[in-house]
Amino acid sequence: MTSTAPENRYAVIGNPIEHSRSPFIHQEFGRQTGIALQYDRILAPVDNFAHSVKQFFDQGGRGLNVTLPFKEAACALAAENLSSRAQLAGAVNTLWMDDGRLHGCNTDGVGLLSDIRRLGVTLAGRKVLLLGAGGAAKGVLLPLLQARCAQLHIANRSAQRAYDLRERAIRVAPRRAERLSAGALDAIVGPWDVVINATSSSLGTATLNLPDTLYAPGALAYDMMYGAQATSFLLQARAHGASVLADGLGMLVGQAAASFAIWHRVQPKVEPVLAALRQQLQHT
Ligand code: NDP
Repeated sequence: MTSTAPENRYAVIGNPIEHSRSPFIHQEFGRQTGIALQYDRILAPVDNFAHSVKQFFDQGGRGLNVTLPFKEAACALAAENLSSRAQLAGAVNTLWMDDGRLHGCNTDGVGLLSDIRRLGVTLAGRKVLLLGAGGAAKGVLLPLLQARCAQLHIANRSAQRAYDLRERAIRVAPRRAERLSAGALDAIVGPWDVVINATSSSLGTATLNLPDTLYAPGALAYDMMYGAQATSFLLQARAHGASVLADGLGMLVGQAAASFAIWHRVQPKVEPVLAALRQQLQHT
């Protein structure tokens, strides 16, 4: 490994962490933009995340990406200096120091939106259905609302979590209230122009119980989950007539690009890194 000045040290922190593709992505961004950086993986003890973060920044580290199970803990650590996206999400995936204070942001939503743009799909004026009300849904809700959709509906297996998330979003963005609705997963009525799966259902092979009238002509089906094969959600979407299908690999690279831009004030190109990652995924 080349020696890198401490001020150029970055890392992703989580538990487990070996699987993380963030080092590859950030090193590629660094190469692309001519920024020399070191980007490591940090395995933090589940009960001592705060200590690991302090140690990293005390030793001159510049920025951390945070992954499961620490996104909420990172939000608490940076509570004094959170972006509005992080406040709504209650979760932080990007940490950095400024003027000796810890700052936190959630770039998942920006990553999703940039990937949807890459696919040539516009959200403004469209009917958007968000499936799920967990951490990933919370992370993308504010940017989705700000994209001026005609309607954004949150549907979740446990309907109460969907209602709670709507209430929370309205407190942060009251002017968007009339465009935001919520309900149970088994009460959805189509059609929708864009359907985003932010549930973890694709981790298994079971499909969600969704009506076959979910997709409007030309609709996008987007699964935040990604893998070598099409997910069960995307297979079902294809059978139900969705026109554009995408998994969450582009979102992963997009959220990393947004973190990179916060830290380095340079916007890297997503496409070449996404293509390289896709190739890697297909060979694993
Ligand atoms: P959480 O555990 O916080 O939330 C899980 C959500 O999935 C809840 O809404 C839960 O509903 C719902 N759910 C789980 N199983 C089922 C099922 N069988 N049927 C219906 N609903 C179900 O997970 P996250 O929000 O953190 O992650 C969700 C997905 O997003 C994961 O697949 C993750 O990999 C992906 N993700 C991708 C990212 C990317 O960059 N591509 C970034 C972040 C996440 P209920 O509330 O009723 O339990």
